[in-house]
This record gives sequence, C-alpha cells and structure tokens, in this order.
Amino acid sequence: METIANYINGEFVPSNSGSYMDVFEPATGQVYAQVPDSKKDDVESAVQAGSDAFESWSKTSPVDRSQIMHRIADGLENRLAEFAKYESRDTGKPVSLATHVDIPRAVSNFRFFANHLLTFDLKTVLDGNGSTNRIVRYPLGIVGCISPWNLPLYLFTWKIAPALATGNCVIGKPSELTPFTAFKMGEICQEAGLPDGVLNIVHGSGQNTGSAITTHPDIKAISFTGGTKTGEIISQSAAPQFKKLSLELGGKNPNIIFADCEFNEMLETTLKSSFSNQGEICLCGSRILVEDSLFERFRDAFVEKTNLLKVGDPNDDNTDLGALISKDHLEKVLGFVALAEKEGGTVLTGGKKIPINGRCENGNFMEPTIVEGLGIDSRTNQEEIFGPVVTLVPFSSEEEAVSIANSTDYGLAATVWSSDLDKAHRVADRIDSGIVWINCWMVRDLRTPFGGMKNSGVGREGGDEALRFFTEQKNICVSY
Ligand code: NAP
Repeated sequence: METIANYINGEFVPSNSGSYMDVFEPATGQVYAQVPDSKKDDVESAVQAGSDAFESWSKTSPVDRSQIMHRIADGLENRLAEFAKYESRDTGKPVSLATHVDIPRAVSNFRFFANHLLTFDLKTVLDGNGSTNRIVRYPLGIVGCISPWNLPLYLFTWKIAPALATGNCVIGKPSELTPFTAFKMGEICQEAGLPDGVLNIVHGSGQNTGSAITTHPDIKAISFTGGTKTGEIISQSAAPQFKKLSLELGGKNPNIIFADCEFNEMLETTLKSSFSNQGEICLCGSRILVEDSLFERFRDAFVEKTNLLKVGDPNDDNTDLGALISKDHLEKVLGFVALAEKEGGTVLTGGKKIPINGRCENGNFMEPTIVEGLGIDSRTNQEEIFGPVVTLVPFSSEEEAVSIANSTDYGLAATVWSSDLDKAHRVADRIDSGIVWINCWMVRDLRTPFGGMKNSGVGREGGDEALRFFTEQKNICVSY
C-alpha cells in the first residue's frame, strides 16, 4: 500500500489531522494507496510556505526561473515511462495513451512556459502626448490551481507551469481520485532545485481541501478545471474575495460532418474524438451531427469500426479503451444509456459493462456506445455524460447543423468536417465554442487561447492568456 503525502515547503508531510482516503485502481477495483484528506490547517501551512518563498521567487530573474522549469521538464522526461504507469494506474487509461499523450504533454507544458516567459512582454512603454506610461506586470502572489481526474498531470502542469513562470507561488490540488503523479512531481521539483515553498501540493477532497483553497484570503487567484457545477460553487465562494478566476468546465461538443468531407480521415479521427481516454476528455465530441446524404454510410462504417475497438487491461499494448475512473462514474454513464433508451433512442452498439478476466475482473469497463434516434432537446443530447457514449443526429442544411450544434448550454469545442473550406469556416464562425477544429481534432499549439463559452467556462488558458491571468498590471505615468 502506497501512502501519499502533501508536498509543503519542499518537504513531504502527512496531513495534520492524519485522516486519509482510499485511492482505487479503476482497472482492478482495488485500493492501492491512501491519500491525505487535508483540511484548512494544511492549506494554511502551504500558504505560509508560499508567502515566505514569494519575495525571493518573484524576484528571481526570468532566465533563472526558465532554467529551473526546464530542469523540471527534463526530470519528468527522464521518468516518462514510470510516470505513464502511475497515470494509467490512477485513471484506468491505457499505459500507451499516458506514454504518448499525458506525460509528454506535461513535459511540454513546462518546456513551453519555460521558453514563453522569456519573450512575454512584462513591460510596455507608451510615449506621447506629453507623458510616458510604463505598463508593468507583476506576479499575483499565491495562487490556487485545482485540477480534475481525467488528464491528471497534463492539466495540473498546464496550470502550475504558467503560474510559476510568472513568479507566483502555487498551492496545487489534484483530484483525490488521481493524486499519484502530482505527488511524485514533488520529487522532480526537489531534484530540479525549485526553491522550497514555491510549489506546494496539498491533497484531499474538493469539499475540504478544495474549498479551503478557494476561500483562503491570501490566495489571489484560482485556476480551476472540472465540472460546471463545481465551477459554480467555486465562483460563489471566490467572488466575494475578488479573486481572479479562470474556469475550464464541462462540454457537450458537436462534431459536424458534411457529406463532402474526406471520409476515411474523418472516420478515423471521429473514432478517436469519440472514445479516446474512454470518452473522458472534455474535448471529446459526444454529439455527432451528420448530413442526411452521408448518414447511413457513416453510421454503418462507424459502428463497424467501433466494434473493432478493444476494451481491456490498460497495461496491454493493444488496449484501445481502459477502465472508467470509478464505480460511481461507470454507473452514471450506464444510467445515461438507460435514459437514452427511455427517451426513445436506439443503442446501435455497446451500452453494457464488460467483464474482463484475470486481474481486471473487478474493473470499471464498459463498451463504447453509439445511440441514434434521440431528439435534440433530450437530456442525453443536452447533458455531459463524460464517458464512451456518443449520439448520432442527422441534419439537412448548414443552417440546421449550426442550430443543433448551438442548442446546448455548453460551448467548449467542436469539429467541422468538409472539403469546402469556405463552408467550414463559415460554419466555424457561427458555432458558440472556444475552439473549432476543421478537418482535425486535438491539434494543439500551446500559444493559442484555450477555454470555453457559455457554461463551459470563463477565461482562457494557454500562451499569453495564461501569463496575463497570473499577473496584475500597473500603469506608471510620468508627465513632462
Ligand atoms: P470536479 O468534480 O468538478 O472536480 C475537479 C476538481 O475540483 C477536483 O480536484 C475536485 O476535488 C475539486 N473540487 C470539487 N469540489 C470542490 C469545491 N467545492 N471547491 C474546490 N474544489 C473542488 O470535476 P471532475 O469530475 O474531477 O472532472 C470532470 C469534469 O471536468 C468534466 O465536467 C469535464 O468536462 C471537466 N473538464 C474540463 C476541461 C476543460 O478544459 N474545460 C478539461 C478536463 C475536464 P476532488 O476530485 O478531490 O473532489
């Protein structure tokens, strides 16, 4: 049994209360670790450590900060295979996915911001009209970074890297369901020479640890990724203290497929955008809108390809879909399949739990699932499921496709498939979402803004946007 510790002031320490929660391996259903359920006093110690470290870290030169961040990236890269196994054990995702996506991206997050901070404009001078204005950006101080379970280290580092790059001290909280890679990050930071107290990782539940972070008066900003409901709770508790908030929330993303698309490429990519990471990626397309004239061909080919996907032990190289994060989540997703049928939908394939023999016999596995025949306003087509379940919806015109795409409360991501780029751009311009991919999916340039509209979030991460979020501007004016 592994025992996870908080990382506060450069040291691994237990929580003050000594209370722990079980950490389950989704693929086996077994408890393999204990994670502290930290309370206010643990967060207080982390804030104290951050306050002590801030004076020096905020004045550390950008070049020195950049070098330390590169060393963190190196440390992670050197232990990539080990971290990929940890990530797979915590989440149930295939080790191959963690090896090729999650951990490399965590490395890139550190490298990208280590480089980007050197070219980011911290000072601007505006001269004219008898005055000079010096516009300066300062770090905020101590900031909170709260991340979810689906892409644990990928999203944790996406927040802490820009926060550290701009000279802030960080209190980070990973999900209690997937704490292990964040726990191990502490070792990497120690080895890289990150000064004590600059990054503090406090483990625990959202209710105890998370809310102690979001309500702490000395924490100046909260960067949060997670569910829309939690985003609402965090807004309510953080807003009265005038904290800066960046909220990356849920989605119900449309894939719009026009009949004139390049069919094979679209099909391969749609398979990935539907079922990668068991459909537990906020950017997965869960509503597949297909032009009438292509509908049958697409449906048949998509079902056939989906039936070839292998659900199994995440340790197996041939596994396409691993286990869902928890028993509760599996039941929730299966509940949505039952709801879809009740709402008049037809399950074309999947919809059931899968028993896996051997070490995974108690794991949270389910079949990739495709449903058709549901109304646009059905709950299945409106609510985030966050699992391997997609719906097929036909449309007959560009106008109708846009209207269906925009019919939910969410606005995170969308894809448009067409060989007519004029049409694809026209449609992309009209979709309410933070990102639209044309003829591709999950292509990410870390300089670009990332985030959602409507109930999918507030603010943008990535590139300059993240560095702006973690800094405060001041204008210093002199008249001559
Ligand atoms: P969640 O339940 O909202 O939890 C996210 C994080 O917030 C976890 O660390 C959680 O801690 C913590 N938390 C929960 N309640 C809190 C509170 N009252 N105060 C402060 N922190 C609190 O989300 P999840 O189930 O982990 O993640 C799935 C959701 O994330 C989906 O809706 C998905 O779409 C969304 N997501 C969005 C993006 C994006 O970029 N927009 C990316 C990935 C995921 P515990 O887990 O320890 O309770």
